[in-house]
Amino acid sequence: MANFIEEIIDADLAAGRETEIITRFPPEPNGYLHIGHAKAICLNVAMARKYGGKCNLRFDDTNPVKEDDEFVRSIITDAQWLGWEGDVFFASDYFEVMYEAAVALIKKGKAYVDDVSPEEMKRMRGTLTEPGIESKNRNRPVAESLDLFEQMRAGKIADGALVLRAKIDMASPNINMRDPIIYRVLRAHHHRQGDKWCVYPMYDFAHPLEDAVEHISHSICTLEFEDHRPLYDWVLRECGMFPHPPHQYEFARLNLERTIMSKRYLKKLVDEGFVDGWDDPRMPTIAGLRRRGYTPSSIREFCERIGVAKANSEVEIGQLESCIREELNAGAPRAMAVLEPLELVLDNVPDDFCESLAFEMNPFDPNGGTREIVMTKKLYIEKSDFAVVPPPKYKRLTPTGTVRLKSGYIIKCTGYEGTPENVTRVHAELIEGTKSGADNSGIKVKGVIHWVNANAVPAVVRLYDCLLVAGESSLDFGERLNQQSLIEKNALIEPYLADCAKGASYQFLRQGYFCRDSKSEGIVFNRIVGLKDGYNVKAAK
Ligand code: ATP
Ligand code: MG
Repeated sequence: MANFIEEIIDADLAAGRETEIITRFPPEPNGYLHIGHAKAICLNVAMARKYGGKCNLRFDDTNPVKEDDEFVRSIITDAQWLGWEGDVFFASDYFEVMYEAAVALIKKGKAYVDDVSPEEMKRMRGTLTEPGIESKNRNRPVAESLDLFEQMRAGKIADGALVLRAKIDMASPNINMRDPIIYRVLRAHHHRQGDKWCVYPMYDFAHPLEDAVEHISHSICTLEFEDHRPLYDWVLRECGMFPHPPHQYEFARLNLERTIMSKRYLKKLVDEGFVDGWDDPRMPTIAGLRRRGYTPSSIREFCERIGVAKANSEVEIGQLESCIREELNAGAPRAMAVLEPLELVLDNVPDDFCESLAFEMNPFDPNGGTREIVMTKKLYIEKSDFAVVPPPKYKRLTPTGTVRLKSGYIIKCTGYEGTPENVTRVHAELIEGTKSGADNSGIKVKGVIHWVNANAVPAVVRLYDCLLVAGESSLDFGERLNQQSLIEKNALIEPYLADCAKGASYQFLRQGYFCRDSKSEGIVFNRIVGLKDGYNVKAAK
């Protein structure tokens, strides 16, 4: 089914209002892109692709104070990683055009230079029920405004002393239309323009002009800009420079449960060291998701599934997780890792016991095949897979019980060392004739557990949870930060995993999907997502 943006485009094409579809993604380079931006990118890219058009990546760099080249670079990398292709533009390259548009408005009597302070501006703006108060400078002669505006540009006016305002309607029911400021004096070093400018355009004035310069056909933004649309249209109409002005359409922004979606606040987490940088695997940034082990296709699939709506809502985090889980379930090789190792000794085999077993790479991949794993006398199992006093329905190993070691033999427990609360070693016997795939013993066991052998390699495994605790969405982010969002385990992994490439992903049997961390020096695995309904998913929470 076509989304409402596609319906608009279809109608525009059919009526001949548009012939070429050009969309844009216009981030401000003041932080890294997050999953909310991914939704905007996927939508804009999808529209351009579907209609054989293009999607511009445009940096909305009109506010010099918060911008940085590091952010420009990361945004390009992340947009490309998500599948965007096209040309990069910078709004600041249009400063001259914007200045000209402002001059055109002044000449037309549609803009004036004012000296209101921000406080006065606020006081005189009125409310939803009361009209605003007109400034004494509202009817300033055109020549005077032109002269003052030139002085603003020429650096003769102090920061904040004068502003240029659009002359629209102080009684408009839409407060955005009550003579908004469109230019201000600001001395700040611009990441691209350096100190060339000391006047900067305001977003509502600059944005429609940027779209028009690039011949954007459909300017798609989030719902909070709906009330700004009349101003968008006003700027393009009144400056009279663009015979075929673009149009703005709004869609619902993505809100994800327990997830911070504000660059400003994410920056705070980075600056204050709550996370290990913008690409910390807990971050909802594209860089964080990539390091966590998300793939571009899983994020695109998520954006596809949540769809494009006209009403805001909150999406469950599980929806994002199931996209990567499904992909990795189909494609990721299986391996075994023991997150909380407990030694298990097979007392009835020789010291040099070494038996090769066939381990299935991926039961869902018909071409996956098997690889060899080796069973030794000493093994490690998960602490939680042995219980002296088993809870009801426990299917794993008990002091007198039996269990199958995955792809290996059935073993029977013969005893343990330590105390029931703190078991230090388990003793068991291998039952002959029960080898997986060649078992005709008739012995039935309830459970199959994973294990690693005596040659297992130590690794750090990081288990993640959302940055925010559940519920209480009214609280300030600072009070909702999840102090348990990262749990580190000293695990033992199969030697097979020790040589894997950074960024490679696996299913660790019964534990979830894990990705070798791309940044860490040693062997570090990030848990991308748990296994659906796996007991460990619940246990870790
Ligand atoms: P932030 O408040 O995090 O800085 P922003 O909206 O100010 O976000 P921009 O850099 O201005 O960030 O965003 C670029 C584009 O991404 C805009 O078109 C914006 O509408 C879109 N966008 C930002 N956040 C979301 C979101 N949560 N869902 C969908 N689109 C989003
Ligand atoms: Mg913004």
